[in-house]
Amino acid sequence: MELKTAIEQLRAAEAKSAALGHAMGIIYFDAVTTAPKGTDEGRGRTLAMLSEESYKLTSGEEMGALLAFLEEHRAELDAQTAREVELLKRSYDQLRRIPMDEYVEYTVLLNTAETVWENAKKNNDFASFAPYLEKIVETNRRFAGYYDPNKKPYDALLNEYERGVDTEMLDAFFSQLRETIVPLVKRVSEKPRPDDSFMHRAYPAAEQKKLAEKLMQVMGIDRSHCGLAESEHPFTTNFNNRDVRITTHYYENDLASSMYSVIHEGGHALYELGVADELQYTAASGGASMGVHESQSRFYENIVGRSKEFISAVFPMIKEIFPRQLEDVSENEFYRAVNIGEPSLIRTESDELTYCLHIYVRYELEKKLISGELAVADLPAEWDRMYKEVLGVDVPDDTHGVLQDSHWAGGSIGYFPSYALGNAYGAQLLSVMEKDVDVRAAMRSGDLSPITEWLHEHIHIFGSLYDPRELFERVCGKFDAGYYTDYLTEKFTELYGL
Ligand code: ZN
Repeated sequence: MELKTAIEQLRAAEAKSAALGHAMGIIYFDAVTTAPKGTDEGRGRTLAMLSEESYKLTSGEEMGALLAFLEEHRAELDAQTAREVELLKRSYDQLRRIPMDEYVEYTVLLNTAETVWENAKKNNDFASFAPYLEKIVETNRRFAGYYDPNKKPYDALLNEYERGVDTEMLDAFFSQLRETIVPLVKRVSEKPRPDDSFMHRAYPAAEQKKLAEKLMQVMGIDRSHCGLAESEHPFTTNFNNRDVRITTHYYENDLASSMYSVIHEGGHALYELGVADELQYTAASGGASMGVHESQSRFYENIVGRSKEFISAVFPMIKEIFPRQLEDVSENEFYRAVNIGEPSLIRTESDELTYCLHIYVRYELEKKLISGELAVADLPAEWDRMYKEVLGVDVPDDTHGVLQDSHWAGGSIGYFPSYALGNAYGAQLLSVMEKDVDVRAAMRSGDLSPITEWLHEHIHIFGSLYDPRELFERVCGKFDAGYYTDYLTEKFTELYGL
């Protein structure tokens, strides 16, 4: 085979893989946004067929031979093609270890589990979801052995979401976070609680939607390339850098919930919209890792979205949409209300200060589920016990406890730590960004483009050309969680006058 022909074949396979991913992604997006309840059977069949095609394409003999040939000629490949080969080889090796029937069966299981979880959450009925979660845990444990038999199973799963991260690193990371955050939470709790009752007045969904549109505009998100829909749990999905979709959930008695979901998912969207054109429809398109993705979303949500400067820029616009509800509320009261630091039950609505403690609980539980130390049947009780121990709150029911997140139902075990890492990456990115950009001035002006352009140039454009650690170190040097703990200490000391 000639090298030129091999590269052409590689591009054709990548294009087909992107097309299959596009189709599966749209079907998933439809399932969790507008599809009627009773439609999962046909969808399951279609997904089974498409994922079988995808499996054959990325792990078949043809791909194996092609990748072997290209690896032999590695020295003659340009950097991007070499990276595509590297990434494809990784997933080829992983998938080759999973028998095809197991892979297809798992896809079908997840499709059903999502619906079962939704109903279980609605009805506070963990027992109905438990058999599915048991299968998901068992499958993940088995797949972890396929991914990397030399690693502890949970380490192998972590590596799928954030390459290079393991329990040794995370145990140290979470203990550093707890050392700062737990005493800080205590000191904050001794101060008077700012009033946020006005955030829970009646905020009609139609008006919240207007606010969502405005916020996307402020963030510089091109609406002709980024959709906004509604789902139970907000998320972002991307097909290419011209087609990204975000979702939110409007709660009519809670203004902050959708507002900050939109800013968070908008951060994910900006990342995907900013990946270089040359990487589209190749294996190197899309973000570098879950952790880097979360660093972008949480940068916009917290570092920007909950800053005094940003609130001062957007508060007049928010007040214009909700003149009656916010009639007696000042900018400073609004700023204090979106920055209350206190232990709570729900991760997605938790504040910047306590957020990582929610993640820490999930990290410990996942670790034990995968090692077999904790049985699924005992999970709700252990969840409640840890929430009491770590956050000091009583969990009233499973709907507000172990059933609150969709991740485990979606098969994502090992994903949660990425959120905490993302927070910490973001604070370190800020310290580097501030050398080039007047971040405070940009936020105060309501024109975020200098911030987005910096992130575009340093992070977004590279897609997954680099592994997350390499990308991060190119921009920030060695990872140091101290930037994040300092950021939190400084912010909450100022907010609460500690
Ligand atoms: Zn996110």
